[in-house]
Amino acid sequence: KLPAYQHHRVAAVHSVGKVPLGIKRKGLRIVVTGGAGFVGSHLVDRLIARGDSVIVVDNFFTGRKENVMHHFRNPRFELIRHDVVEPLLLEVDQIYHLACPASPVHYKFNPTNVVGTLNMLGLAKRVGARFLLTSTSEVYGDPLQHPQKETYWGNVNPIGVRSCYDEGKRTAETLTMDYHRGAGVEVRIARIFNTYGPRMCLDDGRVVSNFVAQALRKEPLTVYGDGKQTRSFQYVSDLVEGLMRLMEGEHVGPFNLGNPGEFTMLELAKVVQETIDPDARIEYRPNTEDDPHKRKPDITRAKDLLGWEPKVDLRKGLPLMVSDFRQRIFGDHKEGAT
Ligand code: NAD
Ligand code: UDP
Ligand code: UDP
Repeated sequence: KLPAYQHHRVAAVHSVGKVPLGIKRKGLRIVVTGGAGFVGSHLVDRLIARGDSVIVVDNFFTGRKENVMHHFRNPRFELIRHDVVEPLLLEVDQIYHLACPASPVHYKFNPTNVVGTLNMLGLAKRVGARFLLTSTSEVYGDPLQHPQKETYWGNVNPIGVRSCYDEGKRTAETLTMDYHRGAGVEVRIARIFNTYGPRMCLDDGRVVSNFVAQALRKEPLTVYGDGKQTRSFQYVSDLVEGLMRLMEGEHVGPFNLGNPGEFTMLELAKVVQETIDPDARIEYRPNTEDDPHKRKPDITRAKDLLGWEPKVDLRKGLPLMVSDFRQRIFGDHKEGAT
């Protein structure tokens, strides 16, 4: 028998997107860990707009209250300052687990990926919630297969400077599958490729945020190495759509969620020049250790099973983050209003 708080759940989960006319779908109770961060806050916007109740759990390590404060007056929104490395008791239907120090500058010292994921799986098991892990394309390491399919096991250095993140997420995937197989927890795994958009952390060293901020500040764009390494850049609204389809769908995954459009860092610099400042100069810097040479998702599985594919290409998406960055850099305080 389902616990009382879940009675509305079965009907709701299976009816998202196909609610018969005239029948109002009941809201779910959803936890978003890391919900004050870049991706999390956009996800929260969509869930609130859909009519669900959302509890954001965040320790503000890289996230910001400004990203979610436009919901503060909404009774369907709650914000808890909490480190997911510590246990947490809540009664919910779904858990989107995004909490994670997400960039090289921040992730080195933190057990969030392992202990935090374990706690959220323990929570999911106790209350019978569906659990979605936001894993990463980094599980493929410096890939020997191109583009990367979900069946590829990856090429990761276990003792390198990036290992805490790569191996942390690989462990998080393992824990997720163990709770699925061993305890029957309903799980979903997304492997997210580089994502950009408004509310992205300004100073965490990611290439898109660096280039956009540099161009706006009239500083040179810092290209690491020869700039011929590639990445595939996804606009945040496409990712959020993919995460929601994955959560509501029937398939565990893992699913690659990314935009297959592949760019070298020099090509990206060119798009930033065209978008913001044609006179922006390029400055070469030594590359970081273990930098993957190329990365591009094969998204056939997500297309076939989730009916999902990205809609916003880089030239359309990049301009959409510029005004948010301009406001945050030059201090016109209207944060969160994107
Ligand atoms: P982000 O840094 O903006 O968001 C992460 C959030 O988690 C922040 O709000 C941070 O304060 C919070 N957090 C970190 N440690 C925590 C802890 N111990 N307890 C509670 N909260 C904690 O990063 P993002 O880009 O929004 O990433 C969200 C998720 O997506 C992460 O799991 C990340 O690994 C994954 N991901 C993102 C990308 C990308 O390109 N943005 C790519 C691959 C995977
Ligand atoms: N946990 C939590 N909230 C819950 C249930 C569990 O934070 O509602 C944590 C719990 O403290 C433990 C982890 O999740 O550290 C794993 O829980 P599980 O019950 O699977 O393992 P056990 O406690 O039996 O080792
Ligand atoms: N990079 C760059 N200039 C910067 C920041 C990063 O050329 O100012 C390069 C970096 O070396 C890497 C690519 O951009 O090859 C993507 O880096 P990012 O940290 O954004 O993402 P990830 O390596 O995690 O895919």
